[in-house]
Amino acid sequence: MRVLIVGGGVAGLAAARGLAAAGHDVEVYEAAPEPRTEGGSVSIWPSAAGILREFKVDLDGAGRRLEAMTNLSVRGRGLSTIDLTVVERHFGGLPSLHIARRELVERLAEGVPVRYGHAVTAVDPDRAEITFADGSTARGDLLVGADGRRSVVRRALRGDAPAGLNGWVTWQAFTSPPPEIVDSGRVVMVSNGRSLGSVAPAGHGKALWWFDLRAKPGGRFWGGGPDVLDRLRARFGGWPEPFPTLLAHARNPDFYPHHRHRVPTVWGRGPTTLVGDAAHTMPPAMAMGTVQALEDAWALSTSPGDLRGYERARSRTVRRVARMVGTEMPSRQGPLTGLVSDAFSTRSYIDWLRSASDYLQNRTPGRSR
Ligand SMILES: Cc1cc2nc3c(=O)[nH]c(=O)nc-3n(C[C@H](O)[C@H](O)[C@H](O)COP(=O)(O)OP(=O)(O)OC[C@H]3O[C@@H](n4cnc5c(N)ncnc54)[C@H](O)[C@@H]3O)c2cc1C
Repeated sequence: MRVLIVGGGVAGLAAARGLAAAGHDVEVYEAAPEPRTEGGSVSIWPSAAGILREFKVDLDGAGRRLEAMTNLSVRGRGLSTIDLTVVERHFGGLPSLHIARRELVERLAEGVPVRYGHAVTAVDPDRAEITFADGSTARGDLLVGADGRRSVVRRALRGDAPAGLNGWVTWQAFTSPPPEIVDSGRVVMVSNGRSLGSVAPAGHGKALWWFDLRAKPGGRFWGGGPDVLDRLRARFGGWPEPFPTLLAHARNPDFYPHHRHRVPTVWGRGPTTLVGDAAHTMPPAMAMGTVQALEDAWALSTSPGDLRGYERARSRTVRRVARMVGTEMPSRQGPLTGLVSDAFSTRSYIDWLRSASDYLQNRTPGRSR
């Protein structure tokens, strides 16, 4: 089958790998002139690690293997710890990783035929045909929209609006943190019920810190401005270490507004379908955007001849995940945070990861939904 993929982000590159490995003739068209490697870092939970392994993505030396995730109160009291080494063992040795988006995109792109500087401007979903800015066209047997939250393929299919803001934003930056953070493989999270502060090691002696908070366009925490760091320091400087130290040394943080889509049951039509953010943009809370994009790529590569079946199966899982993530859960913390044992938190996290993954439900033994 000749497969055309619009978009060379995580979803498009991963779908290209999966479909090429299944014997299809794949071309990826990316609007940007070169790989888009901006952004912070992303978490690769065990399902995504398994998919990347099946897609033969070389992750040797990439990112940082995570060993624990600890919740602290705003006074610095330990509330709960999820032991990710237990999670890893439970899923047959599939690790949790934290990795710079740049590194993930570069590793995924190795060996994938991507045509950069090819913005798709029009789509005929029924004919699997795309038109480029210069008026030229390409036609395939299968067309995959992997073109993110402003997807032109989704618009051609459904005519609906791009993903909308959900009222939350992230401020984030890479930092060279104290060695205990890098060496421990530990993600630290603090929440006051309205905002989240977090820091996660991302390999190569770096960590990403971020704050998730509510912000409206034009508000105090919206967009750039020279004094945003002062505002972040005023709001979060009294939180437990390492946040005051991280903020004291911070320079030029990135602003990342949270978006979300309504996730339809049927994503495509005829020979055309969607993967990743084009189908289901969700906030970065719980680090599921990249993971669900990889899940789509894996599921599509196992059944490219049954697109509606692929969409139905994925939308069941993705809608549940999107609902949960849409609550911005880590920023609020559950009512039980701090009241349950670490073993219970770890067990609950295993159940959540399995329920959020078609890959794990198919590929690893254990309880299913
Ligand atoms: C620059 C950038 C920075 C990001 N930073 C973060 C971050 O810090 N934290 C986080 O959690 N998530 C971030 N994300 C989002 C995260 O990568 C995605 O949620 C997740 O990986 C799913 O990826 P995707 O491939 O579906 O979408 P995307 O990563 O958005 O990739 C879509 C790709 O399609 C291309 N494209 C769009 N329109 C067209 C067109 N008409 N023709 C051809 N190509 C087109 C885009 O240039 C892009 O490369 C970022 C995404 C991008 C693009």
